[in-house]
Amino acid sequence: MSGTIAALATPSGRSGIGVIRLSGENAREIAERIAPKAGSSLLPRRAKLAEIVDPQTGQTIDTAVITYFQSPHSFTGEDVVEISCHGSPVVLRQVLDLVLRLGARPASAGEFTLRALANGKLDLSEAEAIRDLIEAGTAAAARQAIRQMRGEFSHRLSPIKERLLDVIVILESSLEFVEDDLPTTATEQIKSCLADIEAELRKFAATFDSGRLVRDGIRVALAGRPNVGKSSLFNALIGDERAIVTEIAGTTRDEIRERFVIDDIAVYLTDTAGLRETGDVVEKIGVERSRRAIADSDLCLVVIDATEPVTEEDRAILKSIEAIPCLIVINKIDKSSDFDERISELGDMAASEVIKVSALTGAGLDTLKASIIGRFRPAETDNDGFLVTDARHYDLLIRAAEEIAHANDALSQKMSEEIVLVGLHNALRYLGSITGETTTEDMLTRIFLTFCIGK
Ligand code: GDP
Repeated sequence: MSGTIAALATPSGRSGIGVIRLSGENAREIAERIAPKAGSSLLPRRAKLAEIVDPQTGQTIDTAVITYFQSPHSFTGEDVVEISCHGSPVVLRQVLDLVLRLGARPASAGEFTLRALANGKLDLSEAEAIRDLIEAGTAAAARQAIRQMRGEFSHRLSPIKERLLDVIVILESSLEFVEDDLPTTATEQIKSCLADIEAELRKFAATFDSGRLVRDGIRVALAGRPNVGKSSLFNALIGDERAIVTEIAGTTRDEIRERFVIDDIAVYLTDTAGLRETGDVVEKIGVERSRRAIADSDLCLVVIDATEPVTEEDRAILKSIEAIPCLIVINKIDKSSDFDERISELGDMAASEVIKVSALTGAGLDTLKASIIGRFRPAETDNDGFLVTDARHYDLLIRAAEEIAHANDALSQKMSEEIVLVGLHNALRYLGSITGETTTEDMLTRIFLTFCIGK
Protein backbone atom coordinates (compact mmCIF):
# COMPACT_ATOMS: atom_id res chain seq x y z
CA MET A 1 0.00 0.00 0.00
CA SER A 2 2.67 2.45 -1.01
CA GLY A 3 3.06 5.18 -3.59
CA THR A 4 0.84 8.06 -4.50
CA ILE A 5 -2.46 7.06 -6.06
CA ALA A 6 -4.75 9.04 -8.35
CA ALA A 7 -8.21 8.57 -9.78
CA LEU A 8 -11.21 10.41 -11.07
CA ALA A 9 -13.45 10.71 -8.00
CA THR A 10 -16.56 11.81 -9.90
CA PRO A 11 -18.44 9.82 -12.57
CA SER A 12 -16.95 9.82 -16.05
CA GLY A 13 -18.87 11.84 -18.60
CA ARG A 14 -19.63 15.53 -19.05
CA SER A 15 -20.53 17.51 -15.97
CA GLY A 16 -20.10 20.89 -14.32
CA ILE A 17 -16.98 19.83 -12.52
CA GLY A 18 -14.94 16.64 -12.31
CA VAL A 19 -12.66 15.91 -9.40
CA ILE A 20 -9.32 14.12 -9.59
CA ARG A 21 -8.08 12.93 -6.26
CA LEU A 22 -4.49 12.18 -5.26
CA SER A 23 -3.32 10.53 -2.06
CA GLY A 24 0.18 9.72 -0.86
CA GLU A 25 3.48 11.27 0.04
CA ASN A 26 3.99 12.92 -3.39
CA ALA A 27 0.47 14.28 -3.76
CA ARG A 28 1.44 17.83 -2.84
CA GLU A 29 4.63 17.81 -4.91
CA ILE A 30 2.71 16.61 -7.97
CA ALA A 31 0.15 19.38 -7.43
CA GLU A 32 2.95 21.96 -7.23
CA ARG A 33 4.37 20.73 -10.50
CA ILE A 34 1.12 20.87 -12.46
CA ALA A 35 0.03 24.18 -10.94
CA PRO A 36 3.36 26.05 -10.76
CA LYS A 37 1.84 29.45 -9.98
CA ALA A 38 -0.27 28.24 -7.09
CA GLY A 39 1.70 25.24 -6.03
CA SER A 40 3.97 26.54 -3.32
CA SER A 41 1.18 28.59 -1.75
CA LEU A 42 -1.14 25.62 -1.21
CA LEU A 43 -2.36 25.75 2.36
CA PRO A 44 -3.98 22.85 4.21
CA ARG A 45 -7.78 22.78 3.84
CA ARG A 46 -7.80 25.87 1.60
CA ALA A 47 -9.10 25.90 -1.93
CA LYS A 48 -6.84 27.59 -4.46
CA LEU A 49 -7.77 28.63 -7.98
CA ALA A 50 -4.94 27.59 -10.29
CA GLU A 51 -3.96 27.03 -13.90
CA ILE A 52 -3.14 23.41 -14.63
CA VAL A 53 -0.13 23.37 -16.94
CA ASP A 54 1.69 20.49 -18.60
CA PRO A 55 5.30 21.10 -17.43
CA GLN A 56 6.69 19.40 -20.55
CA THR A 57 4.87 21.44 -23.18
CA GLY A 58 3.98 24.52 -21.12
CA GLN A 59 0.41 24.19 -22.35
CA THR A 60 -2.49 25.18 -20.09
CA ILE A 61 -4.97 22.32 -19.75
CA ASP A 62 -7.61 23.90 -17.50
CA THR A 63 -8.25 26.37 -14.73
CA ALA A 64 -9.10 24.36 -11.64
CA VAL A 65 -9.62 24.61 -7.91
CA ILE A 66 -7.02 22.71 -5.91
CA THR A 67 -7.69 21.71 -2.32
CA TYR A 68 -4.90 20.36 -0.19
CA PHE A 69 -5.47 18.21 2.92
CA GLN A 70 -2.30 17.71 4.93
CA SER A 71 -1.62 14.36 6.56
CA PRO A 72 -3.04 13.17 8.93
CA HIS A 73 -6.08 15.45 8.57
CA SER A 74 -7.48 13.95 5.39
CA PHE A 75 -9.86 11.18 4.33
CA THR A 76 -7.03 8.68 3.86
CA GLY A 77 -4.81 10.03 6.61
CA GLU A 78 -2.15 10.75 3.98
CA ASP A 79 -1.48 13.97 2.07
CA VAL A 80 -4.48 14.38 -0.23
CA VAL A 81 -4.99 16.79 -3.11
CA GLU A 82 -8.31 17.24 -4.87
CA ILE A 83 -8.26 18.94 -8.24
CA SER A 84 -11.70 20.19 -9.27
CA CYS A 85 -11.50 20.67 -13.01
CA HIS A 86 -14.21 21.56 -15.50
CA GLY A 87 -16.15 18.37 -16.10
CA SER A 88 -14.90 17.70 -19.60
CA PRO A 89 -13.85 14.09 -20.18
CA VAL A 90 -10.98 15.31 -22.39
CA VAL A 91 -9.63 17.70 -19.75
CA LEU A 92 -10.01 15.14 -16.98
CA ARG A 93 -8.20 12.49 -19.02
CA GLN A 94 -5.33 14.95 -19.70
CA VAL A 95 -5.00 15.95 -16.05
CA LEU A 96 -5.11 12.33 -14.92
CA ASP A 97 -2.48 11.34 -17.51
CA LEU A 98 -0.36 14.25 -16.33
CA VAL A 99 -0.39 13.27 -12.66
CA LEU A 100 0.30 9.65 -13.61
CA ARG A 101 3.26 10.78 -15.74
CA LEU A 102 4.57 12.72 -12.74
CA GLY A 103 4.73 9.63 -10.56
CA ALA A 104 1.26 8.82 -9.28
CA ARG A 105 -0.25 5.47 -10.14
CA PRO A 106 -3.89 4.66 -10.91
CA ALA A 107 -5.82 3.80 -7.75
CA SER A 108 -7.51 0.44 -7.64
CA ALA A 109 -11.15 -0.01 -6.58
CA GLY A 110 -11.67 1.23 -3.03
CA GLU A 111 -7.98 2.02 -2.54
CA PHE A 112 -8.56 5.46 -1.00
CA THR A 113 -10.89 3.91 1.55
CA LEU A 114 -8.50 1.01 2.13
CA ARG A 115 -5.79 3.52 3.01
CA ALA A 116 -8.18 5.32 5.35
CA LEU A 117 -8.78 1.96 7.03
CA ALA A 118 -5.06 1.18 7.24
CA ASN A 119 -4.41 4.58 8.81
CA GLY A 120 -7.13 4.12 11.43
CA LYS A 121 -9.41 6.82 9.96
CA LEU A 122 -12.35 4.44 9.99
CA ASP A 123 -13.10 0.80 10.70
CA LEU A 124 -14.17 -1.81 8.18
CA SER A 125 -17.92 -1.59 8.77
CA GLU A 126 -17.69 2.21 8.40
CA ALA A 127 -15.74 1.78 5.15
CA GLU A 128 -18.36 -0.61 3.82
CA ALA A 129 -21.04 1.89 4.76
CA ILE A 130 -19.44 4.50 2.49
CA ARG A 131 -19.79 2.06 -0.40
CA ASP A 132 -23.41 1.38 0.59
CA LEU A 133 -24.17 5.09 0.86
CA ILE A 134 -22.85 5.71 -2.64
CA GLU A 135 -24.88 2.81 -3.97
CA ALA A 136 -28.05 3.49 -1.96
CA GLY A 137 -31.16 3.40 -4.12
CA THR A 138 -33.62 4.87 -1.62
CA ALA A 139 -33.55 7.41 1.19
CA ALA A 140 -34.06 4.58 3.71
CA ALA A 141 -31.01 2.71 2.39
CA ALA A 142 -28.97 5.92 2.57
CA ARG A 143 -30.13 6.55 6.16
CA GLN A 144 -28.98 3.09 7.27
CA ALA A 145 -25.65 3.55 5.49
CA ILE A 146 -25.07 6.91 7.20
CA ARG A 147 -25.74 5.43 10.62
CA GLN A 148 -23.24 2.67 9.95
CA MET A 149 -20.75 5.11 8.46
CA ARG A 150 -20.87 7.14 11.67
CA GLY A 151 -19.73 4.11 13.61
CA GLU A 152 -23.04 2.87 14.99
CA PHE A 153 -22.35 -0.78 14.20
CA SER A 154 -19.01 -0.76 16.02
CA HIS A 155 -20.54 1.22 18.84
CA ARG A 156 -23.28 -1.38 19.33
CA LEU A 157 -20.91 -4.32 19.04
CA SER A 158 -18.28 -3.07 21.41
CA PRO A 159 -20.15 -3.68 24.73
CA ILE A 160 -20.95 -7.22 23.54
CA LYS A 161 -17.30 -7.82 22.75
CA GLU A 162 -16.30 -6.41 26.14
CA ARG A 163 -18.58 -8.87 27.93
CA LEU A 164 -17.23 -11.75 25.89
CA LEU A 165 -13.70 -10.65 26.73
CA ASP A 166 -14.59 -10.54 30.44
CA VAL A 167 -15.66 -14.19 30.26
CA ILE A 168 -12.53 -15.12 28.34
CA VAL A 169 -10.37 -13.43 30.98
CA ILE A 170 -12.08 -15.34 33.82
CA LEU A 171 -11.63 -18.66 32.03
CA GLU A 172 -8.04 -17.92 31.02
CA SER A 173 -7.06 -16.98 34.56
CA SER A 174 -8.74 -20.05 35.99
CA LEU A 175 -6.57 -22.07 33.61
CA GLU A 176 -3.45 -20.26 34.81
CA PHE A 177 -3.98 -20.11 38.51
CA VAL A 178 -6.53 -22.61 39.71
CA GLU A 179 -5.66 -26.23 40.11
CA ASP A 180 -9.25 -27.34 40.52
CA ASP A 181 -12.26 -26.74 38.31
CA LEU A 182 -14.19 -23.48 38.43
CA PRO A 183 -16.67 -23.36 41.33
CA THR A 184 -20.20 -24.23 40.24
CA THR A 185 -21.58 -20.76 40.95
CA ALA A 186 -18.93 -19.17 38.72
CA THR A 187 -19.69 -21.65 35.92
CA GLU A 188 -23.40 -20.91 36.19
CA GLN A 189 -22.75 -17.19 35.99
CA ILE A 190 -20.55 -17.63 32.94
CA LYS A 191 -23.15 -19.81 31.26
CA SER A 192 -25.91 -17.30 31.78
CA CYS A 193 -23.68 -14.48 30.56
CA LEU A 194 -22.78 -16.46 27.41
CA ALA A 195 -26.46 -17.24 26.80
CA ASP A 196 -27.23 -13.51 27.04
CA ILE A 197 -24.49 -12.64 24.59
CA GLU A 198 -25.65 -15.30 22.18
CA ALA A 199 -29.26 -14.08 22.36
CA GLU A 200 -28.17 -10.51 21.77
CA LEU A 201 -26.10 -11.47 18.71
CA ARG A 202 -28.98 -13.47 17.28
CA LYS A 203 -31.42 -10.62 17.85
CA PHE A 204 -29.04 -8.24 16.12
CA ALA A 205 -28.58 -10.69 13.22
CA ALA A 206 -32.36 -11.07 12.88
CA THR A 207 -32.63 -7.43 11.77
CA PHE A 208 -30.94 -8.54 8.52
CA ASP A 209 -34.31 -9.77 7.20
CA SER A 210 -35.44 -6.16 7.02
CA GLY A 211 -31.98 -4.68 6.51
CA ARG A 212 -31.40 -6.65 3.34
CA LEU A 213 -34.65 -5.34 1.92
CA VAL A 214 -33.91 -1.75 2.86
CA ARG A 215 -30.53 -2.00 1.14
CA ASP A 216 -31.30 -4.26 -1.81
CA GLY A 217 -35.05 -3.91 -2.23
CA ILE A 218 -37.69 -6.59 -2.82
CA ARG A 219 -37.81 -8.79 -5.90
CA VAL A 220 -41.38 -9.33 -6.98
CA ALA A 221 -42.44 -11.49 -9.95
CA LEU A 222 -45.74 -11.51 -11.78
CA ALA A 223 -47.10 -14.90 -12.82
CA GLY A 224 -50.31 -16.05 -14.41
CA ARG A 225 -51.66 -17.51 -17.60
CA PRO A 226 -51.83 -15.36 -20.74
CA ASN A 227 -54.34 -12.49 -20.85
CA VAL A 228 -55.16 -12.35 -17.17
CA GLY A 229 -53.65 -8.85 -17.21
CA LYS A 230 -50.06 -9.27 -15.99
CA SER A 231 -48.62 -6.66 -18.32
CA SER A 232 -51.42 -4.24 -17.55
CA LEU A 233 -50.81 -4.73 -13.85
CA PHE A 234 -47.09 -4.29 -14.35
CA ASN A 235 -47.68 -0.95 -16.06
CA ALA A 236 -50.26 0.11 -13.51
CA LEU A 237 -47.93 -0.64 -10.63
CA ILE A 238 -44.94 1.21 -12.01
CA GLY A 239 -47.04 3.75 -13.91
CA ASP A 240 -47.50 6.44 -11.31
CA GLU A 241 -43.88 6.05 -10.24
CA ARG A 242 -42.60 6.71 -13.75
CA ALA A 243 -40.44 9.57 -12.65
CA ILE A 244 -38.22 7.29 -10.62
CA VAL A 245 -38.49 4.20 -12.75
CA THR A 246 -35.31 3.05 -14.44
CA GLU A 247 -34.97 0.27 -16.96
CA ILE A 248 -32.78 -2.43 -15.48
CA ALA A 249 -30.02 -3.56 -17.80
CA GLY A 250 -30.07 -7.12 -19.02
CA THR A 251 -33.80 -7.38 -19.56
CA THR A 252 -34.88 -9.60 -22.39
CA ARG A 253 -37.71 -9.45 -24.83
CA ASP A 254 -39.69 -11.93 -22.81
CA GLU A 255 -38.90 -10.66 -19.36
CA ILE A 256 -39.27 -7.04 -18.36
CA ARG A 257 -37.89 -5.72 -15.12
CA GLU A 258 -38.48 -2.27 -13.67
CA ARG A 259 -37.74 -0.63 -10.40
CA PHE A 260 -40.17 1.47 -8.43
CA VAL A 261 -40.41 2.56 -4.84
CA ILE A 262 -43.14 1.88 -2.27
CA ASP A 263 -42.73 3.61 1.09
CA ASP A 264 -39.01 4.11 0.66
CA ILE A 265 -38.38 0.45 -0.24
CA ALA A 266 -37.16 -0.38 -3.74
CA VAL A 267 -39.27 -2.96 -5.55
CA TYR A 268 -37.90 -4.76 -8.61
CA LEU A 269 -40.90 -5.99 -10.53
CA THR A 270 -40.50 -8.67 -13.19
CA ASP A 271 -43.19 -9.40 -15.73
CA THR A 272 -42.57 -12.99 -16.75
CA ALA A 273 -43.31 -14.60 -20.10
CA GLY A 274 -45.72 -17.19 -18.76
CA LEU A 275 -45.34 -20.66 -17.40
CA ARG A 276 -47.33 -22.91 -19.69
CA GLU A 277 -45.94 -26.17 -21.00
CA THR A 278 -44.88 -25.76 -24.59
CA GLY A 279 -43.12 -27.60 -27.41
CA ASP A 280 -41.89 -24.39 -29.00
CA VAL A 281 -38.15 -24.04 -28.43
CA VAL A 282 -38.10 -20.26 -28.12
CA GLU A 283 -41.09 -20.25 -25.81
CA LYS A 284 -39.46 -22.99 -23.74
CA ILE A 285 -36.50 -20.70 -23.09
CA GLY A 286 -38.92 -17.96 -22.06
CA VAL A 287 -40.72 -20.32 -19.69
CA GLU A 288 -37.41 -21.45 -18.20
CA ARG A 289 -36.44 -17.80 -17.61
CA SER A 290 -39.80 -17.12 -16.01
CA ARG A 291 -39.33 -20.01 -13.65
CA ARG A 292 -35.92 -18.73 -12.67
CA ALA A 293 -37.20 -15.17 -12.16
CA ILE A 294 -39.99 -16.51 -9.98
CA ALA A 295 -37.66 -18.79 -8.02
CA ASP A 296 -35.33 -15.83 -7.38
CA SER A 297 -38.11 -13.55 -6.19
CA ASP A 298 -39.00 -12.66 -2.63
CA LEU A 299 -42.68 -12.58 -3.51
CA CYS A 300 -44.76 -13.77 -6.44
CA LEU A 301 -48.00 -12.09 -7.51
CA VAL A 302 -50.21 -14.72 -9.11
CA VAL A 303 -52.76 -13.00 -11.30
CA ILE A 304 -56.21 -14.59 -11.75
CA ASP A 305 -58.86 -13.28 -14.14
CA ALA A 306 -62.06 -12.30 -12.31
CA THR A 307 -64.09 -12.62 -15.50
CA GLU A 308 -63.45 -16.32 -16.17
CA PRO A 309 -63.68 -19.45 -14.06
CA VAL A 310 -60.39 -20.61 -12.59
CA THR A 311 -58.74 -22.99 -15.07
CA GLU A 312 -56.47 -26.00 -14.77
CA GLU A 313 -53.68 -23.77 -16.01
CA ASP A 314 -54.24 -21.34 -13.11
CA ARG A 315 -54.06 -24.24 -10.69
CA ALA A 316 -50.96 -25.67 -12.36
CA ILE A 317 -49.23 -22.30 -12.05
CA LEU A 318 -50.13 -21.98 -8.39
CA LYS A 319 -48.96 -25.53 -7.76
CA SER A 320 -45.64 -24.99 -9.52
CA ILE A 321 -44.72 -22.08 -7.28
CA GLU A 322 -45.95 -23.49 -4.00
CA ALA A 323 -42.59 -22.99 -2.34
CA ILE A 324 -42.49 -19.23 -2.93
CA PRO A 325 -44.36 -16.64 -0.86
CA CYS A 326 -47.35 -15.62 -2.98
CA LEU A 327 -50.08 -13.06 -3.13
CA ILE A 328 -53.11 -13.95 -5.25
CA VAL A 329 -54.28 -10.97 -7.26
CA ILE A 330 -57.76 -11.19 -8.77
CA ASN A 331 -57.74 -8.73 -11.66
CA LYS A 332 -60.41 -7.07 -13.81
CA ILE A 333 -62.84 -6.43 -10.96
CA ASP A 334 -64.17 -3.47 -12.98
CA LYS A 335 -65.64 -6.02 -15.42
CA SER A 336 -66.78 -8.75 -13.08
CA SER A 337 -67.79 -8.91 -9.45
CA ASP A 338 -67.44 -12.69 -9.32
CA PHE A 339 -64.28 -12.62 -7.25
CA ASP A 340 -65.88 -14.56 -4.41
CA GLU A 341 -66.57 -17.35 -6.88
CA ARG A 342 -62.94 -17.24 -7.99
CA ILE A 343 -61.83 -17.50 -4.40
CA SER A 344 -64.09 -20.50 -3.75
CA GLU A 345 -62.93 -22.12 -7.02
CA LEU A 346 -59.37 -21.75 -5.80
CA GLY A 347 -60.30 -23.61 -2.64
CA ASP A 348 -57.24 -24.53 -0.59
CA MET A 349 -55.03 -22.78 -3.07
CA ALA A 350 -56.39 -19.41 -1.98
CA ALA A 351 -54.90 -19.88 1.43
CA SER A 352 -52.41 -17.04 0.94
CA GLU A 353 -53.57 -13.46 0.87
CA VAL A 354 -56.04 -12.55 -1.91
CA ILE A 355 -56.25 -8.98 -3.24
CA LYS A 356 -58.84 -7.68 -5.69
CA VAL A 357 -57.73 -5.12 -8.25
CA SER A 358 -58.41 -3.57 -11.59
CA ALA A 359 -55.30 -2.81 -13.57
CA LEU A 360 -57.55 -0.80 -15.87
CA THR A 361 -59.14 1.57 -13.33
CA GLY A 362 -56.47 1.35 -10.65
CA ALA A 363 -58.94 0.08 -8.04
CA GLY A 364 -57.26 -1.91 -5.28
CA LEU A 365 -53.73 -0.99 -6.33
CA ASP A 366 -52.95 0.88 -3.13
CA THR A 367 -54.04 -2.14 -1.10
CA LEU A 368 -51.88 -4.35 -3.30
CA LYS A 369 -48.85 -2.11 -2.78
CA ALA A 370 -49.44 -2.02 0.94
CA SER A 371 -49.64 -5.83 0.99
CA ILE A 372 -46.43 -6.21 -1.01
CA ILE A 373 -44.55 -4.01 1.41
CA GLY A 374 -46.42 -5.14 4.52
CA ARG A 375 -44.79 -8.52 4.46
CA PHE A 376 -41.33 -7.04 4.50
CA ARG A 377 -41.69 -3.92 6.56
CA PRO A 378 -38.82 -3.63 8.99
CA ALA A 379 -39.87 -5.16 12.28
CA GLU A 380 -39.78 -2.97 15.36
CA THR A 381 -36.41 -3.50 16.95
CA ASP A 382 -35.02 -2.19 20.19
CA ASN A 383 -32.02 -1.07 18.16
CA ASP A 384 -33.74 2.26 17.43
CA GLY A 385 -34.25 0.98 13.92
CA PHE A 386 -30.59 0.20 13.28
CA LEU A 387 -30.46 -2.75 10.89
CA VAL A 388 -27.82 -5.18 9.73
CA THR A 389 -27.82 -4.63 5.96
CA ASP A 390 -24.77 -6.57 4.81
CA ALA A 391 -24.73 -10.36 4.28
CA ARG A 392 -21.09 -10.48 5.42
CA HIS A 393 -21.98 -8.92 8.77
CA TYR A 394 -25.00 -11.16 9.17
CA ASP A 395 -22.92 -14.25 8.50
CA LEU A 396 -20.27 -13.22 11.04
CA LEU A 397 -22.87 -12.46 13.73
CA ILE A 398 -24.45 -15.89 13.26
CA ARG A 399 -21.09 -17.65 13.30
CA ALA A 400 -20.13 -15.85 16.49
CA ALA A 401 -23.47 -16.78 18.09
CA GLU A 402 -22.97 -20.41 17.11
CA GLU A 403 -19.46 -20.56 18.51
CA ILE A 404 -20.79 -19.16 21.78
CA ALA A 405 -23.62 -21.69 21.85
CA HIS A 406 -21.14 -24.55 21.34
CA ALA A 407 -18.83 -23.17 24.01
CA ASN A 408 -21.78 -23.00 26.38
CA ASP A 409 -22.66 -26.63 25.62
CA ALA A 410 -19.06 -27.61 26.26
CA LEU A 411 -19.25 -25.86 29.64
CA SER A 412 -22.45 -27.73 30.50
CA GLN A 413 -20.79 -30.98 29.61
CA LYS A 414 -17.91 -30.06 31.90
CA MET A 415 -15.40 -30.14 29.08
CA SER A 416 -12.03 -28.54 29.67
CA GLU A 417 -11.73 -24.76 29.75
CA GLU A 418 -9.35 -24.97 26.79
CA ILE A 419 -12.12 -26.30 24.55
CA VAL A 420 -14.56 -23.64 25.74
CA LEU A 421 -11.95 -20.96 25.16
CA VAL A 422 -11.26 -22.03 21.58
CA GLY A 423 -14.93 -21.39 20.76
CA LEU A 424 -15.00 -18.04 22.56
CA HIS A 425 -11.83 -16.86 20.82
CA ASN A 426 -13.36 -17.85 17.48
CA ALA A 427 -16.48 -15.85 18.33
CA LEU A 428 -14.37 -12.83 19.23
CA ARG A 429 -12.45 -13.17 15.98
CA TYR A 430 -15.69 -13.26 13.97
CA LEU A 431 -16.94 -10.13 15.70
CA GLY A 432 -13.58 -8.46 15.12
CA SER A 433 -13.92 -9.28 11.42
CA ILE A 434 -16.99 -7.08 11.18
CA THR A 435 -15.04 -4.01 12.16
CA GLY A 436 -11.84 -5.21 10.49
CA GLU A 437 -9.61 -5.81 13.50
CA THR A 438 -9.25 -9.48 12.66
CA THR A 439 -10.02 -9.51 8.96
CA THR A 440 -7.52 -11.38 6.83
CA GLU A 441 -5.64 -9.68 3.98
CA ASP A 442 -7.40 -11.59 1.17
CA MET A 443 -10.79 -10.97 2.75
CA LEU A 444 -10.00 -7.24 2.74
CA THR A 445 -9.00 -7.45 -0.92
CA ARG A 446 -12.29 -9.16 -1.73
CA ILE A 447 -14.34 -6.61 0.15
CA PHE A 448 -12.61 -3.66 -1.46
CA LEU A 449 -13.11 -5.10 -4.93
CA THR A 450 -16.79 -4.27 -4.42
CA PHE A 451 -15.93 -0.57 -4.19
CA CYS A 452 -15.78 1.76 -7.17
CA ILE A 453 -12.56 3.30 -8.47
CA GLY A 454 -11.89 6.73 -6.97
CA LYS A 455 -13.47 5.80 -3.65
P1 GDP B 1 -51.15 -10.65 -19.91
O1 GDP B 1 -51.14 -11.50 -21.12
O2 GDP B 1 -51.43 -11.44 -18.69
O3 GDP B 1 -49.93 -9.79 -19.77
O4 GDP B 1 -52.42 -9.69 -20.06
P2 GDP B 1 -52.52 -8.20 -20.62
O5 GDP B 1 -52.04 -7.22 -19.65
O6 GDP B 1 -51.91 -8.16 -21.98
O7 GDP B 1 -54.10 -8.04 -20.71
C1 GDP B 1 -54.93 -8.91 -21.46
C2 GDP B 1 -56.21 -8.18 -21.79
O8 GDP B 1 -56.95 -7.91 -20.62
C3 GDP B 1 -56.01 -6.82 -22.46
O9 GDP B 1 -56.98 -6.65 -23.47
C4 GDP B 1 -56.23 -5.84 -21.34
O10 GDP B 1 -56.67 -4.59 -21.79
C5 GDP B 1 -57.24 -6.53 -20.52
N1 GDP B 1 -57.16 -6.15 -19.10
C6 GDP B 1 -56.09 -6.22 -18.29
N2 GDP B 1 -56.39 -5.79 -17.05
C7 GDP B 1 -57.71 -5.43 -17.06
C8 GDP B 1 -58.60 -4.92 -16.08
O11 GDP B 1 -58.29 -4.68 -14.91
N3 GDP B 1 -59.87 -4.72 -16.45
C9 GDP B 1 -60.30 -4.96 -17.74
N4 GDP B 1 -61.58 -4.71 -18.02
N5 GDP B 1 -59.48 -5.43 -18.68
C10 GDP B 1 -58.20 -5.67 -18.37
